[in-house]
Amino acid sequence: MQLDIGKPILEKNDALAHENRQLLDDKGVFTVNMLASPGAGKTALILATAEALGDACRIAVIEGDVASRVDAELIKAQGIPCVQINTGGLCHLESQMVAAALGQLDLDAIDLLFIENVGNLVCTSDFYLGEHCSVVVLSVPEGHDKPVKYPGIFQAADAVVVSKVDALPVFAFDERAFRTSMSDLNPLAPIFPVSAVKGTGIAAWTAWLKSKIESFGGLA
Ligand code: MG
Ligand code: ZN
Repeated sequence: MQLDIGKPILEKNDALAHENRQLLDDKGVFTVNMLASPGAGKTALILATAEALGDACRIAVIEGDVASRVDAELIKAQGIPCVQINTGGLCHLESQMVAAALGQLDLDAIDLLFIENVGNLVCTSDFYLGEHCSVVVLSVPEGHDKPVKYPGIFQAADAVVVSKVDALPVFAFDERAFRTSMSDLNPLAPIFPVSAVKGTGIAAWTAWLKSKIESFGGLA
């Protein structure tokens, strides 16, 4: 059995998301919706990305969490502008929350915005926020079978980052099975194996991101 999220809710969400997108386009802010399970390493990846891109790219972050400011504090400690959204129990971000957060950022001073969505592989990808691309982060300890179990989010992704690859020796993550299921679901999405702590793969991931920002017209 499949349940449908109410159509009026999604239509209302999408209408405001298009307004967000217009604003982001006008301000030249390339925006990435980052989707993952809790603990997949989204925040660590954002921090490693910011470090790799350096001063050439001005980054900001919108942090979505059910509760707490833990991740926002980590981001701000690195001198990166960050707005925390607490959903108070809701399992995904919606476009009106992002609209409010955009109002708190100096969009003229940002080239790249990460929206770190609530950790959840189920419904986050149903809610367009106005982003230019969505990236799913899957960590090695979660297992290679996640695309088979949660196909929707992997199908919709513009890229997939496989994080914590430094843990490959201790987890039964079948890379070939993972790539096979991804090529069935979403053959065009590039896959970036990374380790944020070791720095592995960060160069290839940031090069892809930079090329997306450049073709959007940012970093001119
Ligand atoms: Mg986080
Ligand atoms: Zn949800």
